[in-house]
Amino acid sequence: MIRQIPIQGFDNNFSYFIENGKDIAVVDPGDTDHLISEIRLDGLNVKMILLTHSHFDHVSGVQKLVERFGVPVYVHKHAAKRLNLKENMTVFIDEGDILRLDGLKIKVLYTPGHIDDAVCFYIEEHGHLITGDTLFVEGCGRADLEGSNVEDLWESLQRIMKLPQSTKVYPGHHYGSIPISTIGFEKANNRFFKCKDFEEFRKERMGY
Ligand SMILES: [Zn+2]
Repeated sequence: MIRQIPIQGFDNNFSYFIENGKDIAVVDPGDTDHLISEIRLDGLNVKMILLTHSHFDHVSGVQKLVERFGVPVYVHKHAAKRLNLKENMTVFIDEGDILRLDGLKIKVLYTPGHIDDAVCFYIEEHGHLITGDTLFVEGCGRADLEGSNVEDLWESLQRIMKLPQSTKVYPGHHYGSIPISTIGFEKANNRFFKCKDFEEFRKERMGY
């Protein structure tokens, strides 16, 4: 259903395949060679490319995959100013959109904060959440970068925290003690989820 693929060459990045039978959506292709070899080995059909946000370590393989598989790229509309995407191959997405991988529904949650083009992909029927750099196992994304907003990040995390406890969390980097967790695990172990209000969160995240 969700295949987690460690990416070489960056900072413990993960790419994902959302799988519905042999049809897949590739999420955050940071590289291509390893992804393409898995696709070929297992005879998978790439239907779409999904981006959690526009940072280079999540999108470096996009161009090559588009050229090779001729599939559209789904990315938040605020990424348009940062990514040089072919217009006819790009679908701009926003809060509440439902993407379909055949019959499988992938809901777009707009989760700004780390950057203003950040989204999470939520497969509600199976309880899977791909969080990009918004939420990590035992951590969360930086909020001191171009396009960051620490208050937005707080709001986005508060919203994610309200999802069912058993929801599986698939982060954009392997920064925690385990590669995949759950909302329940994060509530118990993530210091950013333990903050009682925004002021405390800002101190924890920004140091002031
Ligand atoms: Zn990022």
